[in-house]
Amino acid sequence: RTQPPLLALRGVEAGYGAITVLHSIDLEVAAGEVLAVLGPNGAGKSTTLRVAAGLHRPSAGDLLLDGRPVTGADPVALARSGLCLIPEGRGIFPTLTVGENLRMVTYRGVSRAEVEHRAFTAFPRLAQRRRQRAGTMSGGEQQMLAMARAIAGDPAVLLLDELSMGLAPRIVGELYDKVHEIAATGVTIVAVEQFAAAVLGVATTAVVMADGRIVLAGAPDDIRGELQGVYLGGP
Ligand code: ATP
Repeated sequence: RTQPPLLALRGVEAGYGAITVLHSIDLEVAAGEVLAVLGPNGAGKSTTLRVAAGLHRPSAGDLLLDGRPVTGADPVALARSGLCLIPEGRGIFPTLTVGENLRMVTYRGVSRAEVEHRAFTAFPRLAQRRRQRAGTMSGGEQQMLAMARAIAGDPAVLLLDELSMGLAPRIVGELYDKVHEIAATGVTIVAVEQFAAAVLGVATTAVVMADGRIVLAGAPDDIRGELQGVYLGGP
């Protein structure tokens, strides 16, 4: 590897109360790379992503950002240094308009005009819907809004939890094309998915989780081969 990892998890154990759901998780992703984290329901993907976002403190092991241990750091400070999670369910405000949702993106000191410029350049379709309540848009448009809010905040690392959830394959393809474009600008991406096909098309590396452990890791083509017939279906 030529580049040091921008984001890494080292020997992470984590859980809820007395229950440990992650066991010695090691992950790393370099700047501008797309890491796919795959696995069935309950494998621990969302928990891994929350640890990577600094939102869930591991009981052992470390989170490293640009080589610096940031385990247990203030999540707001981590967001300011560029870690951005789009949670399962998108994290947008359904009763607010598209414009209002974008206006709330201020935490990295980006001006309102700049936020709108970035959002509408990346997703022109949202510009026509500035005054529409977010919750009345299609699922794909809502996911676009979630991504637009994220990239308007100028993230260094974008953590995506099941982008494809509930969306038609064509829309999922469009969204992952956009993920590819975002990564090409140097943003580091970690994308969790239960169904592998779309994300493996843009991933640079992939891991598969089961029962809180990483059971496979490798190049997308190798992972695709290994997963053949297991649960590659879906969108
Ligand atoms: P899914 O796609 O279903 O969300 P996942 O791979 O993302 O699955 P996690 O959500 O990380 O998996 O869940 C891993 C394990 O941790 C599961 O057994 C789950 O029941 C448990 N878990 C998740 N969140 C909590 C919580 N807040 N309290 C207790 N247990 C939890």
